[in-house]
Amino acid sequence: MRIEEGVELARLTTLGTGGRACAFARPTSEAEVEELLHWADERALGVAVVGLGSNLLAADDAIDLLVLKLAGELGAVEVDGDVLRVGGGAANAVALHRARAAGLGGFEFACAIPGTIGGGVWMNGGAYGGDFAGVLERALVATAGGSGWLTPAELGLGYRHSELRHGQVVMRAELRLRPRPPEEIKAEVRELNARRKAAQPTNRRTFGSVFKNPEHELSAGRMLEACGLKGHRIGGAQISPKHANFIENAGGATTAHALALMTEARRRALEQFGVRLEHEVEFLGELGLPPL
Ligand SMILES: Cc1cc2nc3c(=O)[nH]c(=O)nc-3n(C[C@H](O)[C@H](O)[C@H](O)COP(=O)(O)OP(=O)(O)OC[C@H]3O[C@@H](n4cnc5c(N)ncnc54)[C@H](O)[C@@H]3O)c2cc1C
Repeated sequence: MRIEEGVELARLTTLGTGGRACAFARPTSEAEVEELLHWADERALGVAVVGLGSNLLAADDAIDLLVLKLAGELGAVEVDGDVLRVGGGAANAVALHRARAAGLGGFEFACAIPGTIGGGVWMNGGAYGGDFAGVLERALVATAGGSGWLTPAELGLGYRHSELRHGQVVMRAELRLRPRPPEEIKAEVRELNARRKAAQPTNRRTFGSVFKNPEHELSAGRMLEACGLKGHRIGGAQISPKHANFIENAGGATTAHALALMTEARRRALEQFGVRLEHEVEFLGELGLPPL
């Protein structure tokens, strides 16, 4: 199993920022994942997985972790009756395509989520009323201590949340879907994509929603818009002029620029609405936001 040094994470995140990982590998089977977890454990090195990097802010400095990107059979999708058996590295778009071809519905919401199955389980990704918790039957999770299948309850899935931590690798998942004519699935996906395109900056480099929606009558996006933050720029990072809960790479952005924008957004939301916004985007490496 080849382990590379100094791979640039900016190439693996949709925002296009991030420093170099001290170790990087592309396991193609469960055995290879287990071997790599063992290798890292022997060196007391942390392990993290990068899916499509669509919900990820990676530190600009060197990242002292073994970073994995699942490939080969860990990206495969198979249909078995009403169950979709998917590798943790499979793109949601590929899984949705296979489900549609097999006449299986229930995963349409994922057309809006440009990530992998592993990233979706980690975040309990969701959109338009659907989420992974609603379709996931179980996931095969590897750790340095061994592998096992976990149910949504055991994974602790909640609103954009799971109890998974770095060092745990979602290698496979099983999604229980339901029969639905492919034309109906296609029509719903077309409608959801059109809604998405009208409301969000889909043609920019972003990492999706920056903050979780707070318990408030306003969504995070509306709140930040009311704070006058649309179009606000720090360095190469800008709050989207189209949707204030998105940060765009407007050219030459760094993770530090994005973090500075997030810090300012949280400060203003607290000042104006008394709300402490919680970040939805995941951090990789030594990163954090200053306390409010
Ligand atoms: C334009 C745009 C729109 C978006 N819209 C939505 C939306 O509507 N709803 C939504 O929920 N999200 C949305 N997102 C965010 C993002 O696409 C999702 O959170 C997605 O599930 C992340 O998947 P990923 O594979 O890219 O994970 P990454 O961003 O690569 O990683 C996210 C986290 O998951 C972990 N992880 C990834 N794969 C594995 C694995 N196999 N095993 C263990 N841990 C793993 C990573 O270590 C990290 O902590 C959007 C993003 C963009 C850019």
